[in-house]
Amino acid sequence: MQTRKQKQRVTGGRHAGHMGHHGAGSGRRATTELDVRIGVFRQTAMQTPVLVLNASYEPINICGARRALVLVLKGVARTEEEQGTTLHAARMQVKMPSVIRLLEYRRIPHQTRALSRKNILLRDRNMCQYCQVVLTASELTLDHVLPRSRGGLSTWENLVACCHDCNRRKGNQLLHELTDMKLLREPRPFSLHTSRHIMRMIGSADPSWRRYLYFESGEAAA
Ligand SMILES: [Zn+2]
Repeated sequence: MQTRKQKQRVTGGRHAGHMGHHGAGSGRRATTELDVRIGVFRQTAMQTPVLVLNASYEPINICGARRALVLVLKGVARTEEEQGTTLHAARMQVKMPSVIRLLEYRRIPHQTRALSRKNILLRDRNMCQYCQVVLTASELTLDHVLPRSRGGLSTWENLVACCHDCNRRKGNQLLHELTDMKLLREPRPFSLHTSRHIMRMIGSADPSWRRYLYFESGEAAA
């Protein structure tokens, strides 16, 4: 699944709650001695996704292994699960984390999740919300439910994954003007539920994540 390739950054700091396009090592943050020490390790291993738990064990985000290691070495987080690989460098050895947990509880502003094409497609599980065909990300477009030409905004509630056929067919018409097209479901804003869903999709290949992502029995079937 292509979501494995996505880089996510950890919640916390200036970019709290943001699952954007920046790599874990980008940004204007000053390079610290810790970064230099961590920089000796291989890049690819450093981009492995790591699940981030709040102090309460609630899953809150995914970050790259590099960012996770920085948090662990700074004493901000501890490793809960390891990947089973150890990184060796001249003067240090580090066990690669698979799941880390923040030592101090942080309030997470879930509504500030980045509105992006990627996140809309994830929310909609790569499924055209009109004809329900599942396609790759490159075969999908975003549809404004209320067309932009009629004042529709680019919001979580007005954007859905859509195949090109349906997008053409719908054009600038309103849904109630079309008899043969209807929405699979009301597009939802980004919520804790969406956030969990995205983490599950990205983490589904890592068995050590499951106990943290599926701990709520009431939500297990979602
Ligand atoms: Zn379609």
